[in-house]
Amino acid sequence: MEIPNIKQHLTLRQILQYYNLNPDKNGRLNCPFHEDKTPTQHVYYKIGKVYCFSINCKTRGKSLDVIDFVDAKRRHGQTRGIAKMCGVYRIWSFSTLLLVITPSPF
Ligand SMILES: [Zn+2]
Repeated sequence: MEIPNIKQHLTLRQILQYYNLNPDKNGRLNCPFHEDKTPTQHVYYKIGKVYCFSINCKTRGKSLDVIDFVDAKRRHGQTRGIAKMCGVYRIWSFSTLLLVITPSPF
Protein backbone atom coordinates (compact mmCIF):
# COMPACT_ATOMS: atom_id res chain seq x y z
CA MET A 1 0.00 0.00 0.00
CA GLU A 2 1.38 3.38 -0.96
CA ILE A 3 1.30 6.39 1.31
CA PRO A 4 -1.48 8.14 -0.66
CA ASN A 5 -3.65 5.01 -0.24
CA ILE A 6 -3.05 4.92 3.49
CA LYS A 7 -4.02 8.56 3.74
CA GLN A 8 -7.24 7.79 1.90
CA HIS A 9 -8.11 5.05 4.36
CA LEU A 10 -6.95 6.79 7.50
CA THR A 11 -8.58 10.04 8.48
CA LEU A 12 -7.20 12.51 10.94
CA ARG A 13 -10.40 12.13 12.94
CA GLN A 14 -9.77 8.37 13.32
CA ILE A 15 -6.21 8.94 14.43
CA LEU A 16 -7.18 11.57 17.02
CA GLN A 17 -9.95 9.32 18.34
CA TYR A 18 -7.51 6.46 18.56
CA TYR A 19 -5.27 8.53 20.83
CA ASN A 20 -8.26 9.91 22.80
CA LEU A 21 -7.56 13.44 21.64
CA ASN A 22 -10.60 15.65 21.41
CA PRO A 23 -10.21 19.07 19.82
CA ASP A 24 -12.36 21.86 21.29
CA LYS A 25 -15.06 23.57 19.24
CA ASN A 26 -12.43 25.84 17.71
CA GLY A 27 -10.39 22.89 16.52
CA ARG A 28 -7.70 23.34 19.15
CA LEU A 29 -6.00 20.60 21.09
CA ASN A 30 -3.54 20.30 23.94
CA CYS A 31 -0.50 19.26 21.99
CA PRO A 32 0.42 15.64 22.77
CA PHE A 33 4.09 16.25 22.00
CA HIS A 34 4.98 18.54 24.93
CA GLU A 35 3.58 20.02 28.17
CA ASP A 36 0.66 22.06 26.98
CA LYS A 37 -1.69 23.76 29.47
CA THR A 38 -3.45 25.91 26.90
CA PRO A 39 -4.24 24.25 23.56
CA THR A 40 -1.61 25.20 21.01
CA GLN A 41 -2.18 22.51 18.44
CA HIS A 42 -4.70 23.29 15.74
CA VAL A 43 -6.57 20.62 13.84
CA TYR A 44 -7.40 21.16 10.18
CA TYR A 45 -9.74 18.36 9.18
CA LYS A 46 -10.24 19.70 5.66
CA ILE A 47 -6.61 19.20 4.75
CA GLY A 48 -6.06 16.34 7.23
CA LYS A 49 -3.27 18.02 9.16
CA VAL A 50 -2.44 19.36 12.58
CA TYR A 51 -0.12 22.22 13.38
CA CYS A 52 1.34 23.24 16.73
CA PHE A 53 1.95 26.93 17.38
CA SER A 54 4.17 26.44 20.42
CA ILE A 55 7.86 27.33 20.03
CA ASN A 56 8.62 24.54 22.52
CA CYS A 57 7.14 21.84 20.33
CA LYS A 58 9.36 19.11 19.04
CA THR A 59 7.38 19.09 15.81
CA ARG A 60 9.13 22.45 15.22
CA GLY A 61 6.65 24.24 13.04
CA LYS A 62 5.93 21.27 10.82
CA SER A 63 2.34 20.48 9.92
CA LEU A 64 1.65 16.80 10.50
CA ASP A 65 -0.51 14.53 8.39
CA VAL A 66 -1.82 11.19 9.71
CA ILE A 67 1.41 9.35 8.96
CA ASP A 68 3.60 12.07 10.50
CA PHE A 69 1.33 12.17 13.53
CA VAL A 70 1.54 8.44 14.23
CA ASP A 71 5.27 8.50 13.66
CA ALA A 72 5.68 11.41 16.08
CA LYS A 73 3.53 9.62 18.66
CA ARG A 74 5.71 6.57 18.44
CA ARG A 75 8.84 8.74 18.60
CA HIS A 76 10.19 7.18 15.50
CA GLY A 77 13.38 8.84 14.44
CA GLN A 78 12.64 7.84 10.89
CA THR A 79 9.66 9.33 9.22
CA ARG A 80 7.30 7.18 7.16
CA GLY A 81 8.01 4.12 9.33
CA ILE A 82 4.35 3.23 9.59
CA ALA A 83 3.83 3.62 5.89
CA LYS A 84 6.72 1.30 5.21
CA MET A 85 5.21 -1.28 7.55
CA CYS A 86 1.89 -1.04 5.75
CA GLY A 87 3.65 -1.58 2.47
CA VAL A 88 5.54 -4.58 3.77
CA TYR A 89 2.48 -6.24 5.28
CA ARG A 90 0.04 -5.05 2.59
CA ILE A 91 -2.29 -3.63 5.16
CA TRP A 92 -5.57 -2.40 3.79
CA SER A 93 -7.89 -1.90 6.70
CA PHE A 94 -7.77 0.66 9.44
CA SER A 95 -8.36 -1.95 12.15
CA THR A 96 -5.38 -3.95 10.96
CA LEU A 97 -3.28 -0.84 10.88
CA LEU A 98 -4.27 -0.11 14.49
CA LEU A 99 -2.99 -3.55 15.48
CA VAL A 100 0.33 -2.68 13.94
CA ILE A 101 0.64 0.78 15.45
CA THR A 102 -0.49 -0.22 18.93
CA PRO A 103 2.55 0.38 21.10
CA SER A 104 4.28 -2.61 22.56
CA PRO A 105 3.86 -2.90 26.35
CA PHE A 106 7.63 -3.18 26.68
ZN1 LIG B 1 3.24 21.02 20.18
